[in-house]
Amino acid sequence: MKIVLASRNRKKIEELRTLLAQSFADIEILSLDDVGILGEIEEDGTTFEENALIKARVAAKTGYIGVGDDSGLSVDALGGEPGIYSARYAARCQFAGDHDDEGNNQALLKNLENVPDEKRTGAYVCAIACVFPDGREFTVRGESRGRILREYHGTGGFGYDPLFYFDEYGKTFAEVTPEEKHRVSHRGLAIAAFAEKLRSMENGI
Ligand code: IMP
Repeated sequence: MKIVLASRNRKKIEELRTLLAQSFADIEILSLDDVGILGEIEEDGTTFEENALIKARVAAKTGYIGVGDDSGLSVDALGGEPGIYSARYAARCQFAGDHDDEGNNQALLKNLENVPDEKRTGAYVCAIACVFPDGREFTVRGESRGRILREYHGTGGFGYDPLFYFDEYGKTFAEVTPEEKHRVSHRGLAIAAFAEKLRSMENGI
């Protein structure tokens, strides 16, 4: 089975390859570069699922199974934002500092400044979409709930991880090992759901 992942991110491709290899003996994961799809895909959907589908449909044009993902941090007190704008939240908020991970985190802290501790809840969300060459499509979603701290804890992970406190571990996602994070993370849960759904479709269930 050949899958084209609509990404150029080597870490994402390796992660999916390793995890799907555990469930499927005959799987090959190709990147957009591997199949010669150049340029950026415009992610103009309004939900994680829509954006994941937009990417998966481009990848499926190759004639192989197309897979796309979209993820971010959805904070309850901010009506779900940063949400689909997670990667560019500082720019969306016209934050005065840099428009990078650090700027995104600072913009988030600023917008939550007056929100009391008990309302600083939210979830990391990951949607994965799958599009078959015959037009069949499905999406799965993984969510991991946590709380947004007022200051950084830990140096691991990426993005909002130093601010994302996971109660069950009593630590932020920047303080856990990659294995610990994967076990409970939005992406880990979404990949597991994706593998299960793909397996059931393969078996014609
Ligand atoms: P993408 O789906 O890889 O484009 O990720 C979108 C953005 O969501 C990232 O740039 C991060 O800001 C945020 N994000 C998604 N997953 C995580 C995570 O596991 N930790 C920290 N930030 C994340």
